[in-house]
Amino acid sequence: MPLGDVHTMQYIEPLYRPPSEAKSLILQITNGCSYNKCTFCHMYRDPQKKFRVKPEAEVRNEIALAARYQPDRIFLADGDAMTLSFRRLQAVLQAIKEQMPNVRRVSAYCLPRNLKNKTIEELAELKKLGLELVYVGVESGDDEVLRRVRKGEDYRSTLDALAKLKGAGIKVSAMVLTGLGGKQFSKQHAINSARLVSEAQPEYLSTLVLMLPQGDALVQEDYDGQFEPLSQRALLEENLLFLEHLELNKTIFRSDHASNYLVLKGVLGKDKERMIGQVKQALCGEGSVQLRPEWARGL
Ligand code: SF4
Repeated sequence: MPLGDVHTMQYIEPLYRPPSEAKSLILQITNGCSYNKCTFCHMYRDPQKKFRVKPEAEVRNEIALAARYQPDRIFLADGDAMTLSFRRLQAVLQAIKEQMPNVRRVSAYCLPRNLKNKTIEELAELKKLGLELVYVGVESGDDEVLRRVRKGEDYRSTLDALAKLKGAGIKVSAMVLTGLGGKQFSKQHAINSARLVSEAQPEYLSTLVLMLPQGDALVQEDYDGQFEPLSQRALLEENLLFLEHLELNKTIFRSDHASNYLVLKGVLGKDKERMIGQVKQALCGEGSVQLRPEWARGL
């Protein structure tokens, strides 16, 4: 049985996790997202996904259940388990350490705002207890775009959070959302996102493509009805501009999420020129570069 399907665990669905956590046991210590206001995000809009912190006794029970499977990786769900206080996270990580000695890595999604009430020392303590990696939805480094999609963060607050994590030794996987600025803000979205990521130097970076399967009505609200989604070509051009402006020393880069037309993988900066070349080839329709067909992106 795959570890994510432990039937005795009380999962409230839908349940999301990053693709790289496919082999992790998911421990749902919170439900939904405590913020839940980003206009492009429909992950936690269902009534059953209303934000809730699972009671401590329930979490303790689930950790005991999970221990039967002795996993080696754990992903703390849902959207921002890191919203819990230092004390609650410390208790969860301690229990995992005691009951699941094989666990090599605990990870979670993390909103920059989740770190406001935690010191670097507290984060370093969580790292010591096993919290190895957090996934931060940077989405954009452009304040105008962040404001229009109601992210509730800006360049500075995101950078501060990433710096705090680095200071505590917790690895960061940063996610940038291609197409989030629409046609109007595509250039500044690409350039400022690259600037922010370059300043933060995360261990991992991935790009996803904006998908609005439920329609764009919410996104249009703060774009005054002027939001224009990018064509496949414009998405590639935005990718190119983003890559060209990235100044990274040693970041593992992936654009292999199903939403991407073009899969890129490499280490930045070492592979920057190669990846720029791949995007250029895709734009010219030349070489062996394959774009994902539209049907394959049906998420
Ligand atoms: S913070 Fe993340 S999970 Fe919450 S609404 Fe925004 S994008 Fe969705």
